[in-house]
Amino acid sequence: MPSYDPKNIFAKILRGELPSYKVYEDDKAFAFLDIMPRAPGHALVLPKAPARNVFDVSPDDFAHVMGVAQRVAKAAMKAFEADGVTLQQFNEGAGGQVVFHLHVHVIPRKTGVAMKPPAAEKEKPEVLARNAKKLAAAIAAG
Ligand code: 5GP
Repeated sequence: MPSYDPKNIFAKILRGELPSYKVYEDDKAFAFLDIMPRAPGHALVLPKAPARNVFDVSPDDFAHVMGVAQRVAKAAMKAFEADGVTLQQFNEGAGGQVVFHLHVHVIPRKTGVAMKPPAAEKEKPEVLARNAKKLAAAIAAG
């Protein structure tokens, strides 16, 4: 398996070299909105420590990220009046991974509404800003 590449786009977001629509941060994890959401409020949860995917992440960091994903999922149910939430986590190209810093997708779902295909459409900045504010507030309240 290739080693971790610190030039990946999420590493740049974590270092503050690129902007993001942040919804949550603690000492070990960071969460922000996907700019090509598969549904409104689609968020990504990352460990701060470098990890390419499930194969090299430390069990502690992976457990922490899943705990944060659980918290984001509960908040997303309220913030987006969702009927359910889909969690996804892809590993290596064959597993569907495109960006090689481990991340968990948290996708709010409405009954009967299909997810958009991956990376189908870049959302408008004002919509992302509004959704990030709503989700961040619900996470902080939960
Ligand atoms: P995966 O690696 O799990 O297949 O998916 C990578 C995800 O990152 C995709 O859902 C894609 O829409 C998202 N993505 C790609 N580039 C950016 C970016 O620059 N900023 C944000 N916030 N998301 C991105």
